[in-house]
Amino acid sequence: MIGSFSIGFLRIGWIDVVDVLLVTALFYQLYKLLTGSVALKVFLGFMSLYLFYLVVKAAGMELLTSILGQFMSVGVLAGIILFQQEIRRFLLNVGKATSFGSRLRVFPWRREAGADRMNVTPFIEAAKSLAGKQTGALIAFSLASDLKFFADSGDLIDAAVSKRLLMSIFNKTSPLHDGAVIITNGRIKAARCILPVSENPDVPASMGLRHRAAIGLTEVTDAVVLVVSEETGQISLVRGGEVFRNLAPADLRARLNEFLFDAEPKPAAAGTKAAEVAV
Ligand code: ATP
Ligand code: MG
Repeated sequence: MIGSFSIGFLRIGWIDVVDVLLVTALFYQLYKLLTGSVALKVFLGFMSLYLFYLVVKAAGMELLTSILGQFMSVGVLAGIILFQQEIRRFLLNVGKATSFGSRLRVFPWRREAGADRMNVTPFIEAAKSLAGKQTGALIAFSLASDLKFFADSGDLIDAAVSKRLLMSIFNKTSPLHDGAVIITNGRIKAARCILPVSENPDVPASMGLRHRAAIGLTEVTDAVVLVVSEETGQISLVRGGEVFRNLAPADLRARLNEFLFDAEPKPAAAGTKAAEVAV
């Protein structure tokens, strides 16, 4: 083979090197995707069963081999069903990495020019006021995934963003205050939306359903979620299953700009590292 070399009795071509590197990258992505999630335990359970199957097969135990064989033959299908959410997240990441969206300016609210960038001030002002009144809030910002499925679970609004409207929605006596508000294309798309609740066993017990729903959505989509706690009045941002807790308004602004517009965090945000909690 042209360009091949030998190590001992092994002949290795450049294609083999590329092959191994690609498999390594794939496994690393898989590891990153599964760490800290229930899926890792399911995956380990599945692998243990597969190893057991190989041992049983090698030992010639026919009855057990045929029973486990039935299970293994549907392994790929079972894997797709079991890891549905992780596969979605993986494909979303691949799509994002290869997307020309930012270059072709498909997402208008993500444009770099400050003029047509969504104004985050109403969210910061509303979060500050709601936190001061110990009123809970849950606001999901859609990025590449449009969150239509989740918006459809609530009441469609499609209104321009304003602090007053956000305050009215989350007012405890408002019929719309329960559930999440979804922001798409810089507009309040829907309210009262139901988000998927995270099943991650590592989420601290102090975080109730509101926080779990925020974590859950960011585990299956690339959305960024703002949470105001009714119990503590703390403001948090959640992205990729990671919670940035107890943010001061300046930190919230910096983080929102960073997460929504890929802007560099300002020094104010860099100083909040201690308040971050990865779950
Ligand atoms: P807080 O700190 O505000 O008390 P929490 O994380 O402790 O928040 P809960 O006290 O359980 O959470 O909050 C319950 C509220 O969370 C519900 O009234 C509802 O508005 C919202 N919520 C619960 N589950 C979901 C869900 N699946 N999707 C959207 N919103 C939800
Ligand atoms: Mg609570």
